[in-house]
Amino acid sequence: MKEDYYDILGVSKDASESDIKKAYRKKAIKYHPDKNPDNAEAEEKFKKAAEAYEVLSDPEKRARYDQYGHQAFQGGAGGFGGGGMNMDDIFSQFGDIFGGGFGGFGGGFGGQRGTRRAKGTNMRVRVKLTLEEITKGVEKKIKLKRRVVAKGTTYKTCSTCNGTGHVTRIQNTILGRMQTSAPCGACSGTGQVIDKREPGTDAQGLKQIEETVTIKIPAGVVDGMQLKMSGKGNDAPGNNGVPGDLLVLIEEIPHETLTREGDNIHYDLYISLSDAVLGSSQEIDTVDGKVRIKIESGIQSGKTLRLRNKGIPNLNGYGKGDLLVHVNVWTPQTVSKEQREFFEKMRDDDHFKPNPNKSEKSFFERVKDMFS
Ligand SMILES: [Zn+2]
Repeated sequence: MKEDYYDILGVSKDASESDIKKAYRKKAIKYHPDKNPDNAEAEEKFKKAAEAYEVLSDPEKRARYDQYGHQAFQGGAGGFGGGGMNMDDIFSQFGDIFGGGFGGFGGGFGGQRGTRRAKGTNMRVRVKLTLEEITKGVEKKIKLKRRVVAKGTTYKTCSTCNGTGHVTRIQNTILGRMQTSAPCGACSGTGQVIDKREPGTDAQGLKQIEETVTIKIPAGVVDGMQLKMSGKGNDAPGNNGVPGDLLVLIEEIPHETLTREGDNIHYDLYISLSDAVLGSSQEIDTVDGKVRIKIESGIQSGKTLRLRNKGIPNLNGYGKGDLLVHVNVWTPQTVSKEQREFFEKMRDDDHFKPNPNKSEKSFFERVKDMFS
């Protein structure tokens, strides 16, 4: 049985982002390998805390964890990995936890000992999608400005650390005063420095180019979600650097008549008093265009009609949501003299007297049903 991520960090389920960050920082300092040399137990705890933080610090992953537990990250549905972090991943987290100091060359880098592979910086792009695009999934072509290693740029072995990427020294760190194997300052731990630079490039030999990338967006994405395209970010300087990632932030354009709630869609249908009494056929909007539905005679205002599988496909492949059509009977706000006389006559008519059937559920019962 895998340990609960909240328990690992020692925070409650409703902990804020900053609480989680603080809790992780504490654990990371306590179990840091530099402070606990050759202590397998500490290393295990260090890794566990990092894994928990990786999930809980990401709102989308956290939501999935809250809903499905550890199962959320099995099989890698949707391309988000959860478990099994290695030291490289963990050290690349430190950039945002400790506010730099461990990162170098602009990006993070991995490897606890030995040369660290420079990682390029991440890029972020916002993609706006309509509900229709979210329903079907879509490919978007986006123009980006990406930093790449310019042709003609070369790198050479760093002479300060002889290419090892680290220097041993006594250092005052957040972990206290200790002898550490610190990343080499001259090469930011990559073991390489710039050799030849082309005109028009930055200090690291990178230059900006404009590129069009195709971003494949799966059906069912949610507003605020971030998709990661590994290796599509900025190049890293050096001969063995790895590019950063492209982070795609999903933004949902509100639909004019449809309201999304998870994978379900809500639609407010207004019908006339006559249509409610006599029954009718009504055209409604769906995420796949317009469809006609039948309204039974005698339908009550407030009734919800559920059209199964007419909602949004679930991102993780758990089927499709439903379309919930909320029926509102429109009461005329002005009437002619003739109509007034008609309704006056109907005031005490038996057919017009409310007579809710036992099988007719109350509004509250229906709300309860919708969420169960
Ligand atoms: Zn160096």
